[in-house]
Amino acid sequence: MTDKTVTLGDIEFPERKVWVKTYGCQMNYHDSERLFSHLKKLNFEKTEEQEDADLLIFNTCAVRDLANQKFYSHLGETKHLKKKEKKPKVAVCGCIAQTDGKELIKKYPQLDFAFGTDVIDSINDFVYRSYAGDNKFHVNTWDRSSDYSIETQITHGTPQAFVNIIKGCDKFCSYCIVPFTRGREKSRRLKEVVDDVRKLVEHQGVQEVTLLGQNVNSYGKENDESLAMLIQALDEVNGLELIRYTTSHPYDVSDELIAVHGSAKKLSPHLHLPVQSGSNSVLQRMLRQYTAEHYLGLLEKLRKAKPDIVISSDIIAGFPNETEEEHRDTIKLLDAAQFDFIYSYAFSVRKGTKAARMEDILTRDIRGRRLREIQAHQLKIQEKIRKEMVGKTYRVLIEGKNTMKGVEKWKGRTDCSRIVHVDSTEENLKWKWRHVEITEATALSCQGKFVTVQ
Ligand code: SF4
Repeated sequence: MTDKTVTLGDIEFPERKVWVKTYGCQMNYHDSERLFSHLKKLNFEKTEEQEDADLLIFNTCAVRDLANQKFYSHLGETKHLKKKEKKPKVAVCGCIAQTDGKELIKKYPQLDFAFGTDVIDSINDFVYRSYAGDNKFHVNTWDRSSDYSIETQITHGTPQAFVNIIKGCDKFCSYCIVPFTRGREKSRRLKEVVDDVRKLVEHQGVQEVTLLGQNVNSYGKENDESLAMLIQALDEVNGLELIRYTTSHPYDVSDELIAVHGSAKKLSPHLHLPVQSGSNSVLQRMLRQYTAEHYLGLLEKLRKAKPDIVISSDIIAGFPNETEEEHRDTIKLLDAAQFDFIYSYAFSVRKGTKAARMEDILTRDIRGRRLREIQAHQLKIQEKIRKEMVGKTYRVLIEGKNTMKGVEKWKGRTDCSRIVHVDSTEENLKWKWRHVEITEATALSCQGKFVTVQ
């Protein structure tokens, strides 16, 4: 037993290492931070090397096909590790563990336990059970309490933090598995979130928070609170520099929230507002509850309230039975919306959703071609928008260095979420705010120089 051994119940936990692989969205990255933070109390340190680890955790995503496939292939590759001297524990959590944990445990002999999205904070109980000899179990229970209360846990030591404000989703878009993997909406109380952020700023040096949820626009409904009210309260937190939030649903963007985009001093002038399609008939089949006209009307109001706001979006190409005309409507919407960037995907079936039960005549080739058309069209728009940045000055948080074409450059992110590179010999800039004038911009990258702003 070493000096640093921790004892829980009748089990000793000497210093050990944990390796975590995270797939998918920011919610999962946030959950992985929570895992690290809890496991620290059981003497686990992070490692990037799978072979060094005593505990391997796969934090899975069921939303994207690619993330799904990668997980299964990575899990398959861990079989040989069990034959090595260390015999690490292997666990799966996240969305796939929530819906398919039982099957995973049966199918993969190397897997010790699986646990779902709503019991992430019980990781130490599961590790204890496993070291106590109770292997091959899965837990995917839901939190049935009416209150949702947590404290943000971070271990990364950077000034950026994700702060979860709402969990679950009540929207049931026809293609999406999230309501089944993350459950119904539950919001934290506004006062708790503000106190949490204040603590992060005062004790952990956090300067930038991203308010997180599957549909943050729905925040606080059950408590007569709202995202707009929360942002206004956070705007008053001393020492906090920047507030971001994600992800938004257009149906729940209120006039009150739009007004806050115009008035809050610390709210990022960037909004990610997923539209998914420009065709009203496709939006109906997706059960999105808004029309393209409503969506474009929101952008107009937002741009009126905050003229320099930067908007990005998500697009699904080739929803089941999408006609050529419906696809063209999406291209037209790109022209009308003038997004700064988009995340675009070819539709893929998620088992258990309404869309999975739709008859579908589209082929993989058609979907691929439509996706390429959407992306090529957006790149032209993006190039034009980015070129307009040249000569303008932005406030940038420097995140680190990048090597581009053999030259090491500082890499930062503007308040409005654009990545900027600066070629400079200045040292020790990481996590400092600087002003950068954009000197060159293409559809995908921006170069700039540091300037002093009085
Ligand atoms: S709003 Fe729709 S797409 Fe977003 S998480 Fe909820 S069901 Fe999924």
